[in-house]
Amino acid sequence: MSEPCRILLICDDDLGCLELRETIGTELRVVPVLGHGDATVVPLEVEGVVASGTWEIGITDRQYQLCIVAITGASPMGELARHPALRGNLSAVLYLVQDIEAAAAGGLRPGRDRVFELPRSRAALLAEIERTLLHVLARNRPPIDDQRCLDLVGALIESGQRSVRPQLTVDDIDGWRYPQVARTLGMAVDQGALLERLVQQGICTRTIVERLRACPSCACHQLSYGESCARCGSVDFARETIIHHFACAHMDTLGNFTQGQDLVCPKCRVTLRQIGRDYEKPTGCYVCRSCAFISSETRVQARCHSCKAQVEPERTVERLVYAYDLTPRADEVVAAQDLVGWDMANVLRKAGTGLYAKSFFLYSLQRELERLKRYTTPVSLVMVRATRLEDVRSSGLESYMHYVQDLWKAATTGLRTLDVPCIWEEGTLALMLPATPLAGAEVVAQRITAVFQARSDAGQIAEELIIAAVVARAEHADAQALMHDAVGALSPGSTTASDLLVLADDEISNGRRAPQA
Ligand SMILES: [Zn+2]
Ligand SMILES: [Zn+2]
Ligand SMILES: [Zn+2]
Repeated sequence: MSEPCRILLICDDDLGCLELRETIGTELRVVPVLGHGDATVVPLEVEGVVASGTWEIGITDRQYQLCIVAITGASPMGELARHPALRGNLSAVLYLVQDIEAAAAGGLRPGRDRVFELPRSRAALLAEIERTLLHVLARNRPPIDDQRCLDLVGALIESGQRSVRPQLTVDDIDGWRYPQVARTLGMAVDQGALLERLVQQGICTRTIVERLRACPSCACHQLSYGESCARCGSVDFARETIIHHFACAHMDTLGNFTQGQDLVCPKCRVTLRQIGRDYEKPTGCYVCRSCAFISSETRVQARCHSCKAQVEPERTVERLVYAYDLTPRADEVVAAQDLVGWDMANVLRKAGTGLYAKSFFLYSLQRELERLKRYTTPVSLVMVRATRLEDVRSSGLESYMHYVQDLWKAATTGLRTLDVPCIWEEGTLALMLPATPLAGAEVVAQRITAVFQARSDAGQIAEELIIAAVVARAEHADAQALMHDAVGALSPGSTTASDLLVLADDEISNGRRAPQA
């Protein structure tokens, strides 16, 4: 059993509330057909109000996952829009309306509110409620825990499906879904958000496989495209044979030019003799029955099947749909049964090391740069790159963990309170040394080499650490510019374009490299 789901009914009278209550029942049971996936059962708490007088008093402050509005006024949307505080607490609204053309004028919140036209059957309404609630639950639930993510990745690897493909659908609100995810994790899961999380963790890569267009007013993807009159927009036009009289420039249908055996211009009354000299028959023309416009050019309009909005195709909203492919890291995290996998940040956090986030490092560095510019207090950096890290990783988790801890110990031994060490990227550490000139940084660099070489299981390869000491200069515009030089100092002569990308990655890695309390 999951958390109960709260539903608010707004009706014209008690009878309406009662009927909807009976239709909805007390729980939502989503049971996949033929055992394809897990069942989801959600208890429902249904409240009903009659929309008259100050009906909103008493419910304005409460949160509801779904509100069903079944009032017959001119604009049910407008009625709710008059109470923005209440509407803000409604995750989704389903408007039961009889005249959608009039109703839609009040405005829907795209992706959250939908219209349901009456008359329809109870079963159809239940299906709509199920679909809407699944959508809301998927978005409002806390993220799937690591173990269930691992279950999904493990199930994909086991079944040999290294690619997760979207499937276009008619009845899902988004217009597509990922059946492979629903099969393992059930249907009330935000499949897109889950897969994006796997991308952030390096477990999947993604590629665009569909570009869909959605309705700008309700986000529905079911759009029809059709031609209409280029002048008045009417769809009531017909293809006809058109005559163009050169002498007076009149254009009309063949029928209006025909008088017995002759062609007579209805405007200037001249009888037409020779095609090409007196007149022409332009091809591909239509006559609009609304405004009598004759043209070969039509206008294409997109029309939403849900809210009936009619817009120019360029005003529809593009939605990108992705396919996801497992990376080799997926095998690693499943083997280790640890979603975050084997990276330096994870190993050090597990070992209880106080780890600074990269954003904090950059923030502190920026402050030191300002101090340098104002008081000429020097600040320097020591960068440490472990060249053998990938080899060590491939020889097993145990040795990788030891190696990373030894590396960290070597880099941080003897640091002062205000020095800030951080993992700049996998395999590279950065140390910021405030109030330290270059000579001081070089001493730190030598100490790191000495401590690292003195460790118990030190390898025979002397060149396994690349260490660079860099001092900040007043020309460094900001911390990022300084870091660009510092990373560049680790690989002299090589391109530094990719180092800039590392900076851009920071937002993603912040989530799991936050400072440890
Ligand atoms: Zn027209
Ligand atoms: Zn004429
Ligand atoms: Zn729409």
